[in-house]
Amino acid sequence: MKRETSRPSVIPSVHGFSPGFAALGLEARLLATLDQLGYEEPTPIQRAAIPPLLAGKDVLGQAATGTGKTAAFALPLLQRLAQGATARPAALILVPTRELAVQVGDAVKRYGKELRVNVLTVYGGQAMGPQLHALRHGVDVVVATPGRALDHIRRQSLKLTQVRVVVLDEADEMLDMGFADDLDAILEQTPATKQTALFSATMPSRIKSIAQRHLTHPVEITIAKEPVKVGTTPRVQQTAYLVARPYRGAALVRVLDMAGPTSALVFCRTRVEVDDVTAMLNGRGYRAEALHGGMSQPHRDRVLQAFRAGQTNLLVATDVAARGLDIPRVSHVINFDLPSSAEIYIHRIGRTGRAGREGTAITILDPREERLLRSIERLTTANVTVAPVPSAADLLAVRFERAKAAVLEAMREHDLGRFRSTVQAMASSSDPVTIAAAALKLVFQAQGGDRVEPDVPPVPTGRPELDRAMSRRTDRPETRQRSEPSRLNERPAMGRPNRERPKEGMARIYVGTGHQAGIRPGDLVGALTNEAKVHSKVLGDIEIFDRFSLVEVPAAMVPKIIDRLGRGRIKGHRVPVRLFREERDVG
Ligand code: AMP
Repeated sequence: MKRETSRPSVIPSVHGFSPGFAALGLEARLLATLDQLGYEEPTPIQRAAIPPLLAGKDVLGQAATGTGKTAAFALPLLQRLAQGATARPAALILVPTRELAVQVGDAVKRYGKELRVNVLTVYGGQAMGPQLHALRHGVDVVVATPGRALDHIRRQSLKLTQVRVVVLDEADEMLDMGFADDLDAILEQTPATKQTALFSATMPSRIKSIAQRHLTHPVEITIAKEPVKVGTTPRVQQTAYLVARPYRGAALVRVLDMAGPTSALVFCRTRVEVDDVTAMLNGRGYRAEALHGGMSQPHRDRVLQAFRAGQTNLLVATDVAARGLDIPRVSHVINFDLPSSAEIYIHRIGRTGRAGREGTAITILDPREERLLRSIERLTTANVTVAPVPSAADLLAVRFERAKAAVLEAMREHDLGRFRSTVQAMASSSDPVTIAAAALKLVFQAQGGDRVEPDVPPVPTGRPELDRAMSRRTDRPETRQRSEPSRLNERPAMGRPNRERPKEGMARIYVGTGHQAGIRPGDLVGALTNEAKVHSKVLGDIEIFDRFSLVEVPAAMVPKIIDRLGRGRIKGHRVPVRLFREERDVG
């Protein structure tokens, strides 16, 4: 085995900023912010998109959620706005849903903290008053869903004549949701001299035609089109657990408790996350150490030494810090975050699996990043099994089996002499089975006993057998409560969301998937247009709940839609589809 501790080629120094980001031409204040956020190096889409965007060029980028595309457009946008004082608003970012609007708005605020850029997020369903007030006072960047942006343009509360940068984010989703005409109408209000960036996870011809109409000689960026060379990656069993973001820490603990790894590598994207996860694990009795670029070299060397010597069994690391290091092969690699590219994924999981023995790679997957996982699977020809996070009952069963196995193992060893004579003495006054049971109980308790953390709420996988298993496990009263409607309806021509009864001639169909599977209106519209061949114009309101969705469709089309959608897939999964009955489905 190699003994050298070769140093990674690109690692931020403790006092300097990431050379990777600096090389892209970003200014010091943005570099300082990225440093505070713990970003160590740019992701592939950031590396490719930031320089042309800083140079003022139009960009057409293919990238899914999870690749770091928000920073890819937000950082250059912020820098360009900071460079020249301009009329307001100077930038418009259009996104398909209110969730994404909030997420992107927050990200732009975070990245622009040092530049004191004023960001306003507007979406349908939100009260108009505060939005009008903020727009009157002037904002630099508006993040908006198309419907609400158009509302403001019509009211003349949003004037785009001075806009210098326009971003169309998740453009394919916006088209799937029927926003094509709205986009054209909005872009018509912007000056011809503006810079435009269009990002989309897929590049169908409809996107190309939007790009042709609205982008000028765009720089085209496609990340990882080519399959990644798998090389000598050992056979690794790969599993992903779909977990809503707030429960990732709890899922990690459960996964580790189940696996009981002798040595595991936990990968995070940022330094800040590495520190948080390490502190969380140590707080729960694990021996975990952090490894990231913000630590001095001697400190990193000490951490690696302790890991090699088995003094710590968990190493929590960023990709940059772990790169090029001689980290011994480990039994488990855990992706606390899905990495931003297929190359990094392959590199991470290559750390596990000894010659001849299978390793295990586990990914804690944000439902929004499922598309990225599928593309990583395709590019690496990996086969990742999606499964529910093990339950408390699963963990107790594993602990019990472990205790039993430990006792059986001890029985096979032949040095029980002094224990045997003690048990014989005890057996004169107690039942031998009771003595053995008490001993087994002590071993079980040493494994953690009945101490378990609450279950992680399940996110349906869309695979009926898994989902049934999960609902059996968690079908307690609190998880059966009716979920609140999401008011995701952003389709301006479609009337009010959540009416009690469907419009005349319309009916509502029940689709057995929702928020928890990361479903967005675009997924439902896409499935209805592609699978059931229904034109998006005829669709009515779409309401997405935690576990199911309702779509208003022409009543005459119900049998055809139920038949075709029931046989098709939504986001790659088969889901139940039927006529919606209020009292049966949510009552
Ligand atoms: P996005 O694809 O824009 O939704 O970003 C996905 C996640 O990656 C977000 O949580 C970002 O904070 C994070 N992220 C973006 N760029 C980087 C980077 N260069 N290093 C580490 N994390 C990043």
